[in-house]
Amino acid sequence: MGIVTESEDERKISSESTAAEKKRWTLNDFDVGKPLGKGKFGHVYLAREKRSKHIVALKVLFKSQLKQSQVEHQLRREVEIQSHLRHPNILRLYGYFYDQKRVYLILEYAVKGELYKELQNCKYFSERRAATYIASLARALIYCHGKHVIHRDIKPENLLVGAEGELKIADFGWSVHTFNRRRTMCGTLDYLPPEMVESTEHDANVDIWSLGVLCYEFLYGVPPFEAKEHSDTYGRIVQVDLKFPPRPIVSSSAKHLISQMLVKNSSQRLPLHKVLEHPWIVQNADPSGVYRA
Ligand code: ATP
Ligand code: MG
Repeated sequence: MGIVTESEDERKISSESTAAEKKRWTLNDFDVGKPLGKGKFGHVYLAREKRSKHIVALKVLFKSQLKQSQVEHQLRREVEIQSHLRHPNILRLYGYFYDQKRVYLILEYAVKGELYKELQNCKYFSERRAATYIASLARALIYCHGKHVIHRDIKPENLLVGAEGELKIADFGWSVHTFNRRRTMCGTLDYLPPEMVESTEHDANVDIWSLGVLCYEFLYGVPPFEAKEHSDTYGRIVQVDLKFPPRPIVSSSAKHLISQMLVKNSSQRLPLHKVLEHPWIVQNADPSGVYRA
């Protein structure tokens, strides 16, 4: 079997919700399998929806821990945002349910797990591989920004890998829907300074910076502003103290692209559609959008 297409996918897992009566999931709808991993607030399990036999990842969060850390609001936003996004490079969130003690998120299963581990294994990626990933992330972020969603937490730990080797952005815990913010601001808009009026475009550029950091990390195996002390990293970021070590050897075209994304003035960062047109991406990224070893 190849990849399950999006429409197939949706029919299988949410066929019930298209019925007049909206389907409410319960734990009884799933056969729960092996643990896939452990997060801050609970565990993730492989699971199968009994009726459709659709394989999913079930993220189980403890309400007590969510309350204690005051992240219920953040979780609600994550669910609200992620469940409305449909893109091949964004992890689907099919739905959620809860019982007395726990909240359950029904997630697309990313067969090949964390990209972070892959990067650790290889130390750094080839330019072909890095460019393919950066291109798919740029496309996913263009899609998000088009829906006024800013991810704000793009990093290897939040990237999962699907069956065909395609990247999946996960973890929308820090994302924001800027449209909401704008709408709630409407009443006082007359008094807003330009940088706040322009906040949508302005804020979305944080994801370009992160993409630049990621591109560097893919190619060099370490993030660009790494330092022993927190305060030193902070200083290096603020000064955009960007250095390219002699090893591993990285093309000047890649370095050029990174330098265009890691720009202090957020409005001067290379727009994502231009990232896709950059010669390094055009020459290195696999046109299929999928990296094959
Ligand atoms: P947090 O999101 O609370 O900061 P986290 O990102 O470390 O924590 P989770 O998102 O809860 O943790 O996931 C824990 C681990 O489970 C991940 O690191 C990953 O290995 C695995 N995992 C999570 N979601 C999936 C998924 N949809 N498909 C496959 N593996 C997953
Ligand atoms: Mg996470």
